[in-house]
Amino acid sequence: MTRRIFVKLFAFFFLVIAVSTVTLDFTVRRAWERSLYNNIEKNLSQKVVMFANRVRGASPDQYPQIANETSAAAGARATIITKDGLVLADSEANPQEMENHKTRPEFIAALHGNMGENSRTSHTVGIDFLYVAAPIPNGAVRLAYPLSAIKEVNSQVRKNLIKSSLLAMLVALVLAALASRAISGRLRAIMVFAEKIAAGDLSARVDAADSPDEIGMVAAALDRTARRLEHSFHEVELSRKELETVLNSMQEGVIATDVDGRVIWANRRMHELLPNGVRIGSPLVETLRDPDLLHATEEARRSGIAATERVSWSSAGRSFSVTAAPMPGGGVVAVLYDLSEIERLEKTRRDFIANVSHELRTPLTSIQGYTETLIDGGTSDRSSTQEFLEIIRKNAARMSRLTEDLLTLARVESGEQSFRFASVTAASLVEEAEESLKEQARTRGMNLRIVETTEERVQADRDTIHQVFANLIDNAIKYAPGGSEVQLGARVEGGVVEFFVRDFGQGIPSEHLPRLFERFYRVDKARSRESGGTGLGLAIVKHIVRKHGGTVAASSELGKGSEFVFRLPVAVKPAEMARA
Ligand code: ADP
Repeated sequence: MTRRIFVKLFAFFFLVIAVSTVTLDFTVRRAWERSLYNNIEKNLSQKVVMFANRVRGASPDQYPQIANETSAAAGARATIITKDGLVLADSEANPQEMENHKTRPEFIAALHGNMGENSRTSHTVGIDFLYVAAPIPNGAVRLAYPLSAIKEVNSQVRKNLIKSSLLAMLVALVLAALASRAISGRLRAIMVFAEKIAAGDLSARVDAADSPDEIGMVAAALDRTARRLEHSFHEVELSRKELETVLNSMQEGVIATDVDGRVIWANRRMHELLPNGVRIGSPLVETLRDPDLLHATEEARRSGIAATERVSWSSAGRSFSVTAAPMPGGGVVAVLYDLSEIERLEKTRRDFIANVSHELRTPLTSIQGYTETLIDGGTSDRSSTQEFLEIIRKNAARMSRLTEDLLTLARVESGEQSFRFASVTAASLVEEAEESLKEQARTRGMNLRIVETTEERVQADRDTIHQVFANLIDNAIKYAPGGSEVQLGARVEGGVVEFFVRDFGQGIPSEHLPRLFERFYRVDKARSRESGGTGLGLAIVKHIVRKHGGTVAASSELGKGSEFVFRLPVAVKPAEMARA
């Protein structure tokens, strides 16, 4: 690059110097030549007048001597002629051998009484002369000055001009080299900068804005552009990241394709939904094979308006509502809204209503039947009437328990039930339960006994935890044979407090254990109803313990008994709180 700039600069300098030299040669040298010529002419005119004056006062025989003397004094050839043009005397040649001079332009003027002047090549000597003639009585005199002097001066001036031009060229050469080096250095900085920007390094700067010339201005402008570019890029990157975070935090799966239907992006949920992975850069069909989903994306791409389809993936047991919408660049974005949870909740709700209806129908039918019998006067027997009324009362009580339990469950589940959490010792909770329920156990000839306890504190609401114990102990009393023992207690295990209620009854078959805490789930329906169970006791236990941030589980050995355990987190001690 340096060489190219150098050649251009030098060519430019060369041109300027050449044009200046030619212009100087044409104007200055010519003017100088003209002025020199005028000077010589003026000088010669004065001398010829003096020559004429000398000749005027002299006799013809003195003419040759005057001619010679004047020639020597003026440094010019002196000639005297008659009015007929005959040469009388000449300082350089023999007058007898000289031709008639009447027709020479300067003599023509002088013989008419004026000063005559002419420059031409001499016939006699063959070089350029300036001739000036003046009139004398009966003739004229003339001085001839060789113009070779002017030519010599002229060629000297020309030589000097060429010499100084060459010197100027030399200086130009050095200047061009220096200037090209300085310029190319700065341009190289701009080139390096441009290459960095092209390679995507937007933090690159020229830093060549040191001088306020055009290059400096270009460098400053480029720096400003790069800074703005970096800023804009940063903003774009930031909003892209924000958008990505938003899309990744969505519960819906999002997948986008380009104009050719190739996958360009998918959010985290989408990756989770597809265990075989999302094939970025490949056609959508390689990632999602569902025909309905592909149809929705194709429809959106073709029509330019959003299309919605319901899609179910039987293999994964999921169903989705897919909305595919066209993107400005020609691609499509598909949003998969997982309907599985909604459908599951919907089913749970339907099942629950069916269960409740079923649970209520049995006692209601019974009440209705016996009431109608009584109204119709179906029995006159007083003891039968008493029995019927007793059955009606029992069923009404069952309905009352059921609605009571349903209300409790609804309150706990909905969060309507207020929990007053406080740091209480595990021992106090266990003792409270034993105290209030031991009488109930005794009525069935059973012994309720605390076998283990701890002073560790838990964060708990006394009332609801008491309800938990009541439900578990109630079950133990109901399902274990009379006369057996029901044990309860608390222990610290793995950083949590484990409360347990243990009985030595028939136990629960293991296949029932996972579903035991579901609403209305019963191992033995008849037995449960017989003993006045609603099938909601353990569901209430589960929800209350969950609200405490704890877990509940059941373990059992057939024929030996069952153990129900609920774990509550240990309360943060005041000292630990202060440290935190
Ligand atoms: P229920 O009101 O029928 O007792 P629960 O929700 O309290 O309803 O219990 C659900 C079912 O779990 C009961 O019907 C019973 O079959 C079984 N069950 C609960 N506790 C025990 C236990 N201690 N021993 C044996 N079976 C039990």
